[in-house]
Amino acid sequence: MIWYPYEQMKTMKEPYKIIDAKGVYLYTEDQKLIDSVSSWWSVIHGYKHPVLNEAIVSQTEKFSHVMLGGLTHEPVQRLSEKLADFLPGDLDYSFFSDSGSVAVEVALKMALQYYMNRGEKQRTMVLALDHAYHGDTFKTMEVGDDEDYHFVLNAYGPSAHVVHIPTKTAALEQAFEKYHGQLNCMIVEPLLQGAGGMRMYDVSFLKRARELCDAYDVLLVFDEVATGFGRTGNRFAADLVCPDILVLGKALTGGYIGHAATVANKKVFEGFYDDSPEHALMHGPTFMGNALACSVANKSIELFETQDYMSKIRRIEGITRREMDGFCDERIKEVRMMGGCVCVEVKRAETLRGYQQFAYERGVFSRPFLKYLYAMVPYIIREDELVRVLGVMKEWFRR
Ligand SMILES: *Cc1c(COP(=O)(O)O)cnc(C)c1O
Repeated sequence: MIWYPYEQMKTMKEPYKIIDAKGVYLYTEDQKLIDSVSSWWSVIHGYKHPVLNEAIVSQTEKFSHVMLGGLTHEPVQRLSEKLADFLPGDLDYSFFSDSGSVAVEVALKMALQYYMNRGEKQRTMVLALDHAYHGDTFKTMEVGDDEDYHFVLNAYGPSAHVVHIPTKTAALEQAFEKYHGQLNCMIVEPLLQGAGGMRMYDVSFLKRARELCDAYDVLLVFDEVATGFGRTGNRFAADLVCPDILVLGKALTGGYIGHAATVANKKVFEGFYDDSPEHALMHGPTFMGNALACSVANKSIELFETQDYMSKIRRIEGITRREMDGFCDERIKEVRMMGGCVCVEVKRAETLRGYQQFAYERGVFSRPFLKYLYAMVPYIIREDELVRVLGVMKEWFRR
């Protein structure tokens, strides 16, 4: 039996069985659905993309995987060089892993050990945001802040190693004043907090965070697993404010295979780079740098660069604003938009009950959670398809 994610298996409804997928469409036996979720925000180029398929097929004919311990290969070398070019500043040192959660774990381990290597063992604390989501493994749950995902952590009581603050400058300044000597890093989902409810905040908060991190010598970590590759309307939030460590996942491989990268700047890398074996980063996921994942990631980034994806995302934002501006209903708390993301937050979760099936019958796959009905479409979506996705959302409130 398959144990499905985030589901009470006793009461869950039957999942839709997908038999084919192409472009923005998922196919079941009897329905053709626009995937308004991009398979958890990852399939930015759509399904069965000929260039990405070809990348996987041709690499498979050489080899699919070799370990990165003691071995290396061209696809991973190319990806590391590509990321160094593609990412801002001196974010040039990529540590690969197989999922976003693991990549965040690696970032947090890096931040902690960076100071331990300098003999500053008192810097055990992490500053994080209210409503943060950084993954489902234990340390990522600890820096996360969502009862709905991390209820099980209550067994341990409050964490002595994490402080959570709202995205308000005053709270940020207070936290630095109080804890700066104990902090190793501040971790944020920049501009857009995804699984915590598609919450959007201003870049001025990140600018202030950068200043304070510099002033108190604390590392700044951006978890761009969800926001990277254009979702906020910026290539990366890191283009606006440069972190010390950047975490990429989800869209890194165009949604083809699970893979992630923890990318450090020179300062962080040099905190490990010396003659002492104890100062090495002791981490090594079995499938890190997987050759199929790196091959498809290389092509995915190439498509992103050469096909002017940023203008596709601006077009999506423009159409979304045109269709959703002024849309309201007494059951709606707020409609939020940013880049390739739109979220309708309702006042009560019950308002969204039945929406998934309603959308299914109208040719759209959607997966609202809690009080959030949202769309994060593949960037290759056509205007009429996007209008359809948004139209079904609006129709739900007009029944
Ligand atoms: C999805 C997500 C993760 C976790 O990635 P997985 O690949 O599911 O482990 C971490 N951080 C953010 C911001 C995410 O959206």
